[in-house]
Amino acid sequence: PESVPRQHNVRLPPDTSRETFDEAVASLRQALGHENVVLNDKPLVDGWYLEHPNTHDAFHVVDQEELVCSAIAYPASTTEVQAIVKWANNYGIPIYPISMGRNVGYGGSAPRVPGSVVVDLGKRMNKILKTDADNASCVVEPGVSYFALYEEIQRRKLPFWIDCPDLGGGSVLGNAVDRGVGYTPMGDHFANHCGMEIVLPNGELLRTGMGALPGKNGADNPTWQSFQPAYGPYSDGIFSQSNFGIVCQMGFWLMHETGHQSYMLTFPRDEDFTDIVEAIRPLAQKGLLGNIPQLRHVAQELNVTGLPKSHWYSGPDPIPRDVIRKQAAQLPCGDCSWVFYGTQYGDAASIKTQLDIIKSAFSKIKGSKFYLPNDVPPDHYLHSRALVCSGVPVLRELDWLNWKPNAAHLFFSPITPTRGEDAQIVHNINVRLHKKYGFDLFPTLCVAGREMHYITNIIYDRSSDDEKRRAAALMRELIAEAASEGYGEYRTHLLFADQVARTYSWNNNALMRFNETIKDALDPNGILAPGRNGIWPKKYRGKGWEL
Ligand code: ADP
Repeated sequence: PESVPRQHNVRLPPDTSRETFDEAVASLRQALGHENVVLNDKPLVDGWYLEHPNTHDAFHVVDQEELVCSAIAYPASTTEVQAIVKWANNYGIPIYPISMGRNVGYGGSAPRVPGSVVVDLGKRMNKILKTDADNASCVVEPGVSYFALYEEIQRRKLPFWIDCPDLGGGSVLGNAVDRGVGYTPMGDHFANHCGMEIVLPNGELLRTGMGALPGKNGADNPTWQSFQPAYGPYSDGIFSQSNFGIVCQMGFWLMHETGHQSYMLTFPRDEDFTDIVEAIRPLAQKGLLGNIPQLRHVAQELNVTGLPKSHWYSGPDPIPRDVIRKQAAQLPCGDCSWVFYGTQYGDAASIKTQLDIIKSAFSKIKGSKFYLPNDVPPDHYLHSRALVCSGVPVLRELDWLNWKPNAAHLFFSPITPTRGEDAQIVHNINVRLHKKYGFDLFPTLCVAGREMHYITNIIYDRSSDDEKRRAAALMRELIAEAASEGYGEYRTHLLFADQVARTYSWNNNALMRFNETIKDALDPNGILAPGRNGIWPKKYRGKGWEL
């Protein structure tokens, strides 16, 4: 969508006069260089995935000018990040760090508190600091994308894979800090990180893990990327999905390249859903499913062709089940209910053994069919899964956005046990509420083992206030209903963070009170990403910020 003139001037930080703000900006420019502090005063442009804004949430759920920053700061080093943090404490101005800001569907690069100064780490801090072939690991700065890490490994001809999410343009560090997932055996990004360097909200610099032990003659510790917890409490976790620090370096393990075979299984009957999940559970728990496979509802087979909804159905309402059925019958998957995308790893003989076990397990589901990439046309989505599942970053999932004009999306991402009964409860809630609010339902279950991330992609037209309102209302009701059954989200858009955080309320909100205790100790002035993940510093708490 083209840019429209702005309704409002620069959105100032809370409780900050224009005069103080101008003085603060001048002082920050002195520290970072004039061109490295940019005011957010020009028309907002939503752009697209590869030319995404750092001024606001490109996938706005509320007014485009609501979730905006006042300015963007571009530090070039950890020392400059420390300078920014000290500056923020001085002026009491909230800052909001992003790595690259491609957190699409979860708020993008927008700050939770309008008028915050976004610290865009990725633009100038984008080095791969180390690739250690002996240790099969790397250390990256926030601005290293999956594409960049992949290319570096190819360029150096190292025998490693990276692990990327569905879209490869995001930050390796940023995604791990937000506990994103990918699809190779190393798909749990945070679980496969090793060592962090963090600027705390008071400006102090911290290294976690073995990095806390100084290396010889001032060198980095030689085991920093080898052993995660080191000694004492394992502190890394509190810097993920939080506002306790700014991560400036992070180590990651790399996977040794290996043989791989992707495949697709289809299941014909809607009513077999619980049996399909039951068949998945033992395979997943035993580690027989080599990676993080996906079970997708057949509606997505229409969507991943990249064709718009109007190609399949002309009504304004959600596509009826029988239309999906009829249209899917023309596609390689045929008239089916669920489609399973898996990949097995190892040498040819071991892949064959694994596939025999998997086929036999799924043969219990009547009418299931098995496909290899050669069995489907070259433009079929299975080929794109095969790339992602072998660590090759792609952009194929941008096709989601062809679904409707001005499309944006939100994710509803509850966790369920890998158990048919639980998955069915969450699925039923989704079916009913998507219908109530008039949205197509696109569920993908990412199977990790004992749990599945049940992710639905709510696609709405961001030029329509009515659709935005309905999408937000759908999210609110989904979160509430799932929680009343005991299911909670692993991640959510900025605007729903408070609500999701509130669902984790066991023992009179013990977890949130614990988080607030840490927040107040580390960030007494409440400058770092107030409200992120529902954690508000004392200065903001109970003053009407919570949504
Ligand atoms: P990506 O480009 O992978 O989508 P983002 O930069 O959007 O990653 O990061 C996702 C979210 O994680 C951000 O909105 C921010 O809240 C948090 N985050 C990202 N990078 C950092 C960091 N280096 N330090 C602290 N928090 C971060």
